[in-house]
Amino acid sequence: MNLIDKIKNRKRLNREEGLDLYNLDLFTLGKLADEIRVEKFGKKSYFNINRHINPTNVCADICKFCAYSASRKNPNQYTMTHEEILEIATNSYNQGAKEVHIVSAHNPNDGVEWYMGAFRKIKEKLPSLHIKAMTAAEIDFLSREYGYSYDEIIDMMIDSGVDSMPGGGAEIFDEKIRDYLCKGKVTSTQWLEIHEKWHSRGRMSNATMLFGHIENRSHRIDHIIRLRELQDKSGGFNAFIPLVYQKENNFLKVKEFPTAQEILKTYAISRILLDNIPHIKAYWVTASINLALIAQEFGADDLDGTIEKETIQSSAGANSANGMSQDEFIGLIKNSGFTPVERDSLYNELKVYN
Ligand code: SF4
Repeated sequence: MNLIDKIKNRKRLNREEGLDLYNLDLFTLGKLADEIRVEKFGKKSYFNINRHINPTNVCADICKFCAYSASRKNPNQYTMTHEEILEIATNSYNQGAKEVHIVSAHNPNDGVEWYMGAFRKIKEKLPSLHIKAMTAAEIDFLSREYGYSYDEIIDMMIDSGVDSMPGGGAEIFDEKIRDYLCKGKVTSTQWLEIHEKWHSRGRMSNATMLFGHIENRSHRIDHIIRLRELQDKSGGFNAFIPLVYQKENNFLKVKEFPTAQEILKTYAISRILLDNIPHIKAYWVTASINLALIAQEFGADDLDGTIEKETIQSSAGANSANGMSQDEFIGLIKNSGFTPVERDSLYNELKVYN
């Protein structure tokens, strides 16, 4: 059976076949991915009304691709108080946000309680607001810094009101590339172990992949296959989010950036290879909104959300610092020929905008 027949018959592809997909022309690949997307979700495109909060940029780690942490390139350190975090969450909730997405740098000054106390205060005041917080990289950092096991940190998160985990910190799993990009941060094996532990408690998370820097196509396929293997065991990933590398204000000297074709192929291949992760998210913040809208025809069924404010990617050049209004977001999805569906953080449908 050739590659295309295998896909049409919904047979699982192996690593070599995954890599071969890049040799298909863009439109053949897009059509194959779109057929799978339509089979699962029709023309629905999911989004949520969320608020990103990045409570501190003080970081003990040094990742070469990062423009967010306080460093020589970004000397403006900040750390929010619990009151500031709570005020942002409350204002966003009052304006309709259903989720806060809280991700921080690895601040060695404040202790585990600074993190957990913030979650507890939000949950006490706003019990229906979904808290998505703490990447596996942050959990690993707290474990290393303060001598807790992963299990202990995860149990503290659950006790403090964290509902789900974001997919950040995965970067690229290949150990050699990872060592060059972010030596000292959570390893690939640890990242997967932490998500497996989270899933074993009946909790859901997402998974990311940072691409378009010094990795090659086979590293991306390796990353996707490692996620598929864990999902076979644990079943706790809701969405896969390929993040396009942002080039400004960091220490990584990347000369060639991925073309729109390469980005769209990567979305399509993710959809085809990840037969066990339901949602493929075109995170418009890193892909640009127009490419994310096109990605809907290349396997992506989710465009993330309105975001409201965003610091991590916008520090590196993304055009996302102030998010997007709900009306604008819905209008863009409709005008691109898809049906916007507001979802909650666990992909329950809240409103269909026909
Ligand atoms: S990516 Fe995260 S861990 Fe790495 S330097 Fe930036 S803030 Fe720190």
